[in-house]
Amino acid sequence: MMQEIKDHFVDLHIHIGRTEKGAPVKISASRDLTFYNIAREASERKGIDTIGIIDCHSPAVQNEIDFYLSNGEMEEVPDGGIRYRQTTVLLGSEIEVRDAGMGPAHLLIYLPTLDKMREFTEWMSRHMKNVSLSSQRIYVPARILQEEAEGRGGMVIPAHIFTPHKSLYGSCSSRMSDLLHVPSIAAVELGLSSDTEMASGLSELDGIPFVTNSDAHSLGKIGREYNLMRMAEASYKELELALQGRKGRGIAANFGLNPRLGKYHRTYCANCESIVDESQSSAERCLYCGSTKIVRGVMDRIADISDRPAPDAKSLATRPPYRYQVPLEFIPGLGKRKLKGLLDRFGTEMNILHRVKGDELAAAVGEDIAGMIIQAREGTLRLEAGGGGSYGKVERR
Ligand SMILES: [Zn+2]
Ligand SMILES: [Zn+2]
Repeated sequence: MMQEIKDHFVDLHIHIGRTEKGAPVKISASRDLTFYNIAREASERKGIDTIGIIDCHSPAVQNEIDFYLSNGEMEEVPDGGIRYRQTTVLLGSEIEVRDAGMGPAHLLIYLPTLDKMREFTEWMSRHMKNVSLSSQRIYVPARILQEEAEGRGGMVIPAHIFTPHKSLYGSCSSRMSDLLHVPSIAAVELGLSSDTEMASGLSELDGIPFVTNSDAHSLGKIGREYNLMRMAEASYKELELALQGRKGRGIAANFGLNPRLGKYHRTYCANCESIVDESQSSAERCLYCGSTKIVRGVMDRIADISDRPAPDAKSLATRPPYRYQVPLEFIPGLGKRKLKGLLDRFGTEMNILHRVKGDELAAAVGEDIAGMIIQAREGTLRLEAGGGGSYGKVERR
């Protein structure tokens, strides 16, 4: 049978805040982020059909999945994942590793089935203090974790690789090969403050796919970054094929924040929160207050560790386009009430962002906001840079 390959919206990094009984999973994430609520939000409001939840190693979460499987609201997809209405949830786990002589880094791990995830939890629980919680440290070398995941048919994707805290290149090492077996890495996640062009300066990443995900800590932030992938259906196996670029599957585009909007784009002083321009200072000491608590911005970190100038045209020619995405919540004047009006009319955020025509948007929310949504779609909306741990803004016209 010929399978039809279609475009799918994919966001692989969503946290769980609490279990339905109120037990904490990711303490810093919203309590509305339960497994069920995420699946429903992705299906009904966001229009994202492939969603990775990366706290599925938690036994209480696994029990909730069991509950929805047994009452028939969800079902296991034969090629991997859990189906809820229009959306397939892929089961993942974000884990912190710290090898000798290196700083901490977060890794994302995805497994095809609930059974495999349970086995993995059972193995991890022997090497962690609390396997119920999110993003916990595991006390084995990263390569052992990688082997255990891949040995169960899993995929390993280093998370938000350039951010200053707990990331492969931001806080752990300047080479991925110091930490991991690079040839079997499924992809790397660029994170909110970098894009394909910036990352093209690292030759070590050639041939490794880039993914862009939201790292959502609240329901609203789901889909703030995502990927457009060509797949025959939303399933684990299809994601694997898409990342490998095999059998006509592939990544068609990455949608991410303009790095200028990311909160770690520029180097800043954690004491006085000034943005430190490295071309004018030693970058060891804040120009304004003298503090040495300098947090390296992603832009400067990439410049430091790149082994060739970015952008690198040859490497970029092999990559899908990276499209700057302005989340609807960044559009000035588009408050909760107006957004609800748009959703009632056009169904999902992906429809509003990508599919609905300008005049239809204008009829619903007025020329001004419609104009900004269209400008955002075309990549022409003007933005102020982020930094100092806060996000950039859309400039008011
Ligand atoms: Zn993380
Ligand atoms: Zn995360």
